[in-house]
Amino acid sequence: MPVPRTPPHHTLLVTVSGDDRPGVTSALFDAIADVGAEVLDLEQVVVRGHLTLGMLLAGGEQGEQRLERAVTSVAQGLGMAVRTEAGRGDNAQRRRGRAAVVVLGAPLLASAIAAISSRIASHGANIDRIRRLSRYPVTTVEFDVSGADVESLRRELALESSVHGVDIAVAAGGLARRGRRLVVMDVDSTLIQDEVIELLASHAGREAQVAEVTAAAMRGELDFADSLRHRVAALEGLPVGVLDEVRAAVRLTPGARTLVRTLKRLGFTVAVVSGGFIEVVDGIARELGIDHARANRLEVEGGRLTGRVLGEIVDRPGKAAALRSFASEAGLPLSRTVAIGDGANDLDMLAAAGMGIAFNAKPIVREQADTAVNVPYLDAVLHLLGITREEIEEADEADEATGSVEPAGRDRAGATAVAGGAPPHGAPPAAGVPGRR
Ligand SMILES: [Mg+2]
Repeated sequence: MPVPRTPPHHTLLVTVSGDDRPGVTSALFDAIADVGAEVLDLEQVVVRGHLTLGMLLAGGEQGEQRLERAVTSVAQGLGMAVRTEAGRGDNAQRRRGRAAVVVLGAPLLASAIAAISSRIASHGANIDRIRRLSRYPVTTVEFDVSGADVESLRRELALESSVHGVDIAVAAGGLARRGRRLVVMDVDSTLIQDEVIELLASHAGREAQVAEVTAAAMRGELDFADSLRHRVAALEGLPVGVLDEVRAAVRLTPGARTLVRTLKRLGFTVAVVSGGFIEVVDGIARELGIDHARANRLEVEGGRLTGRVLGEIVDRPGKAAALRSFASEAGLPLSRTVAIGDGANDLDMLAAAGMGIAFNAKPIVREQADTAVNVPYLDAVLHLLGITREEIEEADEADEATGSVEPAGRDRAGATAVAGGAPPHGAPPAAGVPGRR
């Protein structure tokens, strides 16, 4: 292993700020180069056209004073504010225990940031860096934190999440955030806005009965397998063509296409697992380019549904089992899996995954999941993985230019066969509403 070089004894910390324009950094570094200085650290950020540049420099053979004079003179010539501070050595080493804290708000109020940063400080951790990941449809910022215990920081920040009406995800930082992953999604009220069995039941004129059983099951009041058998029995005698009609009527959750498309670009494996029916789920999965789909199969005789389910029912433990088998097939440990769901039957899968995300979920699910997304956009999940809105859009634009994808706007406008557009089942209007939902 290479041994780090001993940092120079005397170093100069320089902070330059002012209006950003082309050539500022290069003019400064021309002057710094002239005195033979060494660069130990360099960070630059531009917010609303205002540049802040932080540099840690060593003076080289000509010394710090000459370096200080050179950088000050150039910065002032550029009309920038400059501050220099002589000192010793390099940055202090970052502490162990790196965490990425992602905060989503619509709007994101200063009071939420105050509470979150105060919690991080009282946890004894340090915020090393903050960056914005998105401005719309939600504002998302990411805190790069060191000296944290991920599990306990997650619990502490969950309290602020409900008080301030923001979503907060705490994940292990560093290498754990990079590389290939498996993302497994629930379908009804997660990937799509509908509950498929309710659509099927409406074709049978039994919508009310089925909706009531579904709601009770999702609240965790009924054994899922039994309730599924009850609901499917109500479909007896329906012509099998109804499945195609329902498949065509399904509405994708806004952001679903963007989420899947972006995950696939990153080389992720994407799967869906549903307590609904493979006859409907398979087509949606294929259209979106999802790798695996698992769901229940309806029995058909003489072109009509018998009101029975074939084989083993995909229920709460069945969904977690599907996550494990998809992970092993993809050659990934469970720590590299992400599960997304809204119902009680998703809880085992959310608990088994490296990151379990409750998406516009029932309260029982929201309380038990690692993190919750309460804005009605599925692509907000990408921000929890540290991906910025700009990165998503630039990739879309590059592919649109080559004609390999439809314009990304379709995802929200709902112009394709499986439509998006309206907020998902039970979700608030798309404008983004403050407060917990
Ligand atoms: Mg669901």
